[in-house]
Amino acid sequence: MQQHAGQHILSAAFEQLFGFQTISFHLGKDTVTIDLNVTEVSEQQLKEAEQLANQIILEDRIIETKWVTEEELFNYNLRKATSLKENIRLVIIPDFDYNACGGTHPTSTGQVRSIKILQTERQKKIVRVEFICGERNLTHLHRKHQVLVNLVSTLSTPEDKIINATKNLLEQNSKLAKQVADLSNSLLAYEAKELRESAKGTTITCILENRSMQELQKLAKLVIQETPKSICIFVSNNQDKLQVVAAKGNDVEQSMKELIAHVLPYINGKGGGNERMAQGGGEKILTSEQLIEKVISYI
Ligand SMILES: [Zn+2]
Repeated sequence: MQQHAGQHILSAAFEQLFGFQTISFHLGKDTVTIDLNVTEVSEQQLKEAEQLANQIILEDRIIETKWVTEEELFNYNLRKATSLKENIRLVIIPDFDYNACGGTHPTSTGQVRSIKILQTERQKKIVRVEFICGERNLTHLHRKHQVLVNLVSTLSTPEDKIINATKNLLEQNSKLAKQVADLSNSLLAYEAKELRESAKGTTITCILENRSMQELQKLAKLVIQETPKSICIFVSNNQDKLQVVAAKGNDVEQSMKELIAHVLPYINGKGGGNERMAQGGGEKILTSEQLIEKVISYI
């Protein structure tokens, strides 16, 4: 009843202040929405409509119902024309809202207690206004307050500084992420250099621990860039699986796709790639060393 009567009041407020008509409404479980037949509603207009609606509530005006005939309808300035011809029930908030409605309402506006607009959403030819009334306002406030209290303690920041503190954290976070990415790239470059320098032939192999496929590929790319006659085979020994990458330098004929396709069945693996670089992952049926041996013997 609070939400429903609140809808009557807020719709009437928009109409009276700005001539915005409510063309439809929806009573949800928690919130109500009304669709206004305009393409824009300013913050100031929202504020004024909310203020007027709450003023009508504060004045605790009577909400009366009256059965009228089609002829008697002309005595009332209805907010929305009705198509009913008989048994017309009017819901009246004197000097404010006259509306044909069959719903259940409280007996006075004061029982609606409060109206709070939550947000608006612009759609094609309307603006949808979402709001909340009465007891639900308290539940809503309680929930939001809990979130805020939690944030204040988590961030150790007073309430009025939470927004800035959060923005700073996010900024810091993206700076750090960039730094980590730069550092990882430099580290990979060093690793690649070391692998090239310690290589004993044209097949460069290495067993690594818990590396992502992306890292293995980057590393392989860095190594073969400067060793066109080499093939790189990198295996990462991860928690529950083995991952393998094979990459070749420009002067090597052999297909990495075929190479990987040949060894993956040994570890029930899946993967793919192209002639220059291929990769895959599978079960730890073999050790990393055994997997590398299979690759070398195929080469
Ligand atoms: Zn109603």
